Amino acid sequence: MRVLVSGGAGYIGSHTVIQLIAAGHDVIVVDSFANAKPSVVGRLEALTGMPLDVRSFDLTDHDKTEHLFADEQIDAVIHFAGFKAVGESVEKPLEYYENNLVSTFSLVRAMRRHDVRKLVFSSSATVYGDNAQVPMQEDAPTSATNPYGWTKVMIEQVLRDVAEADPSWRIALLRYFNPVGAHPSGTIGEDPSDIPNNLMPFIAQVAVGRREKLSIYGGDYPTPDGTGVRDYIHVEDLAAGHVAALHRLGQTDTSVNTWNLGTGHGTSVLEMLHAFERAVGHELAHEVVDRRPGDIAESYADPTKAQAELGWRATRTVDDMCVDTWRWQSANPDGYP
Ligand code: UDP
Repeated sequence: MRVLVSGGAGYIGSHTVIQLIAAGHDVIVVDSFANAKPSVVGRLEALTGMPLDVRSFDLTDHDKTEHLFADEQIDAVIHFAGFKAVGESVEKPLEYYENNLVSTFSLVRAMRRHDVRKLVFSSSATVYGDNAQVPMQEDAPTSATNPYGWTKVMIEQVLRDVAEADPSWRIALLRYFNPVGAHPSGTIGEDPSDIPNNLMPFIAQVAVGRREKLSIYGGDYPTPDGTGVRDYIHVEDLAAGHVAALHRLGQTDTSVNTWNLGTGHGTSVLEMLHAFERAVGHELAHEVVDRRPGDIAESYADPTKAQAELGWRATRTVDDMCVDTWRWQSANPDGYP
């Protein structure tokens, strides 16, 4: 298939591009490079051994989006592009709603106009809000605790309504749990532009000497060791989930399909820290501080629906995630050039 990958230069997008090409798909990347570095492209070309078709523009630009679909025969779209920093979304709600929603409207309009009806959307386990039961199942009610999360809830709703109005759409809403890890080559990985909000890139930056110590947000949660529990999933498993979802959309009778992409296993902050220490070979400085507002005690997927319907499952362990993250971070202490 000829697949347009929006946000294909980003963390999850770049790993997915490699697997799409390996699976025989023809890929076009569109990325604004607002949060991705152009040097990713050369690294993807080195890994795949072929030139990558990259269009550098923002999907909120309706004309450019329209022209792309007018000029190219596209069979399906994987839509990763979007702002994703929770804290920043609280400070800049309007920018988050506008960017994430308008880019999706522009994309879906162009798809409709050019009769492209297969769409895989990057949603998030954040749509389960702060009241969900674990393990989280796809039919649980959705809500959010910050503007970033609301953009995911809203876009899911928009896409369900679009598919309701025209059942010829084939849409996958992929709810990611906590993506971590890096390509085993160590040449591509997660490269936060600011001080990392997320646990894994923060630990990696402590390990490489860019940060003094990890602050563990809360040691008094009702979890086995008192620290927060999450379902960390290796980005390579997540990328494979996208390829499987794309394949499945060609066969399914249902116009909207929601799938959790997680491992089904919870890991605490302390367990993750210790796994990273094993990967690095020494202890890492840390202290337990107050809980972070908005955090929940535990989040992990019930992945059985994705396993049954996609024939996919996450296979990589927490140790794999840490070893691969460390290979990337130690080879690229300051991220991409
Ligand atoms: N966390 C932490 N210190 C950090 C960043 C995160 O203790 O510097 C904890 C956080 O409280 C949560 C877990 O690590 O329990 C995962 O947080 P992250 O921000 O990576 O993902 P999310 O909260 O979105 O699941």
